[in-house]
Amino acid sequence: MRATQIKYIVIHCTAGFKNAEAVQDYFTRPKSKGGRGWRTGGYNRIVEEDGTIKKMYPFSRITNGVLGYNAESLHISYVGGLNYEEFKEGNFIAEDTRTDAQKIAIEQCIIEAIEWLQENGKDIYHDLMILGHRDFSNDKDGSGVIESWERIKECPCFDAIPEYKFYNSNNGKKELLPTNR
Ligand SMILES: [Zn+2]
Repeated sequence: MRATQIKYIVIHCTAGFKNAEAVQDYFTRPKSKGGRGWRTGGYNRIVEEDGTIKKMYPFSRITNGVLGYNAESLHISYVGGLNYEEFKEGNFIAEDTRTDAQKIAIEQCIIEAIEWLQENGKDIYHDLMILGHRDFSNDKDGSGVIESWERIKECPCFDAIPEYKFYNSNNGKKELLPTNR
């Protein structure tokens, strides 16, 4: 069962892609046409700037988000994460660009994901963590790159762990980051 294998709800940003369709087009377009050529795109949910939640794939489907961890993750992404003035000049400067509507919608996605997990047999009080893509990196403040296609290593451009701590549950025990397991 997919739900019982889930350990992470991972928050992302789209880093330059302005809407869900543009993101998905890039992931699924053939490599010969400048895309990634993936059969399945990224993220189960994408939150547009106005807070609209796009259901890209059911949670039962494994999507692309964090290399090596997709089978145990659900992925939620918001449109944004870059300073757009700099982006227009070709610079990738990470910035928390979440609108109030997006903040609410991201949280709705998290709650929906937790409900789906519980309905499908996951013990949500054990070994479930909400975190950012960058929390998978063991090179958080180094110069390394997590995944080049995300173009910025700061994804999702805010500290998701304290923000969603309320939803983390490990029976009161300290959560272990993926790299410390
Ligand atoms: Zn990401």
